[in-house]
Amino acid sequence: MSAVLGENLHEREREISFLAEIASREVSAGRELDLQASIDRLQKSHPYYSWIGFADTNGTVKQATGGMLTGQSVIKRPWFQHGMKGPFVGDLHEAVLLAKLLPQAAGVGPVRFIDFAAPVTDQQQRLVGVLAAHAHWVWAEEVMKVLTPGSARERGLSLFIVNSENQIIFPDHQFGETVAIGQQTSHYAVQEDANGRAVAMAWAPVKQSALQTPMGWKVLVRQPVDAILSDVLVLQNVFMYTVIAGVLVFIGLGVLIARRISEPIEAITDGALAIAAGNETATLRVRGRTLEIRRLSGAIQSMASHLIQRNHAIAEANSELEARVAARTSELAQANHALEQLARRDALTGIANRLAVKERLQQEQVRTQRYHQPFSVLMLDVDHFKRVNDTYGHAAGDEVLKLIAGLMQQQIRASDFCGRMGGEEFLVLLPDTAHHEAMLVAEKLRLAVQHAATPIEQNITISIGVASDDSTRFSGQDLLQLADARLYEAKRRGRNQVMGENSGQGELPGTTDVL
Ligand code: GH3
Ligand code: MG
Ligand code: MG
Repeated sequence: MSAVLGENLHEREREISFLAEIASREVSAGRELDLQASIDRLQKSHPYYSWIGFADTNGTVKQATGGMLTGQSVIKRPWFQHGMKGPFVGDLHEAVLLAKLLPQAAGVGPVRFIDFAAPVTDQQQRLVGVLAAHAHWVWAEEVMKVLTPGSARERGLSLFIVNSENQIIFPDHQFGETVAIGQQTSHYAVQEDANGRAVAMAWAPVKQSALQTPMGWKVLVRQPVDAILSDVLVLQNVFMYTVIAGVLVFIGLGVLIARRISEPIEAITDGALAIAAGNETATLRVRGRTLEIRRLSGAIQSMASHLIQRNHAIAEANSELEARVAARTSELAQANHALEQLARRDALTGIANRLAVKERLQQEQVRTQRYHQPFSVLMLDVDHFKRVNDTYGHAAGDEVLKLIAGLMQQQIRASDFCGRMGGEEFLVLLPDTAHHEAMLVAEKLRLAVQHAATPIEQNITISIGVASDDSTRFSGQDLLQLADARLYEAKRRGRNQVMGENSGQGELPGTTDVL
């Protein structure tokens, strides 16, 4: 508005200056000055010109629209005085001379004008008069009406034009009231009106660009703060509801998406837990709506199937392995047993060896000590065995040893025990056998050997030492030594005889050296 007003004022100023220039040219050309036609044309072009006229240097009006004021003196009018010096725009004032001449509508306030004036000069730049125009203030009203927004009233918007003293010059009904905006450098203020309501004001200066001294008019707009904020509140509500709606939509979408993701994952979790609990037929394949979930569930399913298959294979291999280990263990036990047997067997004769004899002797020692049962041992040695070897060879000697072992096994009872002590020496253990019984067994053995058919050309004889005990102080080792001593005694006495406790005197019958 301020720009339009400023431009409008400037336009009027230019028109009058232009007309004055034309007049100056006429005068310079030496022609009679006749402005009537131009004046009338100008008034028609701008209906708000109430009066356009020319006054000579004496201040007498020479030509004017409708002949108004012709011949009258305007020498005291400010526009005339200023207009003689240069182009002039005068501040708003009430009609003075024209008031009575202009037609006036009833009920309308005093007529107000803005004056425009410019000097008319001759060729030598000498002043010949002043051209002036009075523009009716109603044009400002028209401009303001056109530019006032239609919603101004409902928004409580008031528009004013104020002069340099901050006095209202528009609208007419508040003319002359002063607006208290002081000489602020800012272009807005918030004040309280008479009713205590906060009112915001903003203003902009009317710029009359070509004027040396601007008139200091301002266009001022005033609106209650409530009315301003009501727009803001509406905007705020719209914004708030939009945000709430947006948030709700996003939450809804979030829940939907979360469900699409979490439901299949929960199904996969349940399946995995079921498999972990042993239900191998549980499925991990879910009908997820997203490709990623379907791929994930498929991959987990195939992994689980692979693991289950492998588990079965491992279990099978395990049981096979266990069976094999059991078989191997029993084979090993058998082999061990066989080894043990072997370790206690004499390789040549197949009867117990020295180790087995010693073990058995220890067992019998325990039993004898505990039950005081009689126990006897026979220590046997082949007579002149060296000669057998020497005469018939080592192999023949071996056969003889086998023969003797066989005879021993035949002669003794199942509860008795015989073994080879090494070389051509044998031992017979006779549990629960008293000395005299042992002597009989020994004699029977000696006779059996002596009369046995041999692989060599001659008979074989043996010598036997017999020792017995039934005491708690029974010692197998002592008994062996005693039997050995008696064997030695039997040898010394001529061999092929049995030597026992009371065999001290004389030779037993049939004890002849065979070799
Ligand atoms: P004696 O009547 O005093 O017992 O005389 P001997 O010759 O039987 O006794 P000696 O201890 O002098 O000889 C034992 C011989 O037995 C010596 C050895 O060559 C022989 N001999 C030892 N073990 C074996 C064997 O396993 N096989 C054979 N063929 N001979 C053996
Ligand atoms: Mg010997
Ligand atoms: Mg011998």
